[in-house]
Amino acid sequence: MTVDIHAPYKTRVKQALGDRHLGVALTRGTDRLVNGRLQAMTAVDGEKLRDQVRQMKEHTLRHLPAYLEQLETNLKANGVVVHWAKDGADAARIVGEIGLQNGVESVVKAKSMATEEIHLNHALEEVGMKVVETDLGEYIIQINDETPSHIVAPVIHKRLEDIAQIFQEKMDMPPTLDPEALCSAARVRLRKDFFGAQMGISGCNFAIAESGTICIVTNEGNGRMVASMPRIYVVLMGIEKVVPSVEDGLLQLQALTRSATGQQLSVYCSMTSGPRQPGHPDGPEQMHVVLMDNGRTRIIERGYGEALLCIRCGACLNVCPVYQEIGGHTYGSTYSGPIGAVISPLLAPELVHAKELPHATTLCGACRIACPVKIDLPRLLVDLRADLVNEKASPKAEQWAIQGFVKAMQSRDLYEQGGKLASLGSNVLAGLSGGNIKFMPPPLNGWTQHRNFPPFAKKSFREWWRERQELRNRD
Ligand code: SF4
Repeated sequence: MTVDIHAPYKTRVKQALGDRHLGVALTRGTDRLVNGRLQAMTAVDGEKLRDQVRQMKEHTLRHLPAYLEQLETNLKANGVVVHWAKDGADAARIVGEIGLQNGVESVVKAKSMATEEIHLNHALEEVGMKVVETDLGEYIIQINDETPSHIVAPVIHKRLEDIAQIFQEKMDMPPTLDPEALCSAARVRLRKDFFGAQMGISGCNFAIAESGTICIVTNEGNGRMVASMPRIYVVLMGIEKVVPSVEDGLLQLQALTRSATGQQLSVYCSMTSGPRQPGHPDGPEQMHVVLMDNGRTRIIERGYGEALLCIRCGACLNVCPVYQEIGGHTYGSTYSGPIGAVISPLLAPELVHAKELPHATTLCGACRIACPVKIDLPRLLVDLRADLVNEKASPKAEQWAIQGFVKAMQSRDLYEQGGKLASLGSNVLAGLSGGNIKFMPPPLNGWTQHRNFPPFAKKSFREWWRERQELRNRD
């Protein structure tokens, strides 16, 4: 991985922009997903579908406590053990305890952003369990010791050539660019892990309150095996994943698969309503559902509830001109792209912990147009920028610049003096550069690293206007 996720934000951006292979992989991956979504959404009345999903998600969020209680009641009635986790540490502890109490040594996992959000693999490995990712993309990044860089396409930052190289190095495979051969090699290894695991863990695309049913969507069938082969099945879900009815779930499913991968329907859609019952030929002996808050209530309280309408399709990432250039790792958080730039600072204990992200956007609005739930991401990003300033979490230089600008705009004298000073300074720098300014001192040098800056006019508009009026009066 060329982007060091622990490096400062600006360093990560430089690393990403300097990686030619990353650029190629991102262009290939996002182009394919964008075109697929456009075709799939235009094959139906896409606008109507978006409006319906938005209405359903808004309704659910307005009545969230009631639907969560209904979900809990029906899950319990189906024989599921329900746990409530206030934060990530709590959720990881609960899952770890389920494993330890049942003597679990080996775990298989389906792709889940909620488990990534709380670094669950690490927590389980710390208490001695072996955790294997079974989604092919997640498997590749796990064996290469990386993290996912996209909500639905975790390995979008790699070209086929890079993946082949990883299989050669980590799995002793002969060199090949044949995707089928690569998939088969992973399948053979994973099959052994499925048979050996005592516990399966997945996230949840949506949970149906009226029936106590968990739905996971995959294209590889691994989700179904995770949910049914080991003797214990654990689901970790954010509390916003509940939907009222089966019809609502199927409505969300249509918008999700069309927006995520351009499919009318994913290859597998697995619905699980409880553990194995007497007389059932298979299925897990125990099923647990962990309902996790981990900052979601805080998001609603801060007035950003709209962000919780997200169905994690990744469409906003694919169309974002910033994401297309820098990829997911540069964001330095589990969630990337426009939705990541909104929820990562909000999920953190303080906004300041991801203060760069609301600025990692051009506010072009492409994400709002692509979003199947019509989330107004640009407005949320602007609101977050305002909150960062109000909470004094933005960089000091930016705070001082804005305070100085506000003062200057409130005083005619200050404004004129400031203008003269800027004109003088910029013309001195332009003289040194022999035309347009090629170098500015910090903190303004970021601009001139990539482009020139035209010097201010020697005379301000006011001076020019005054002189013009004086000349006219004389005539
Ligand atoms: S914000 Fe919208 S487009 Fe982005 S991942 Fe969520 S649902 Fe998809």
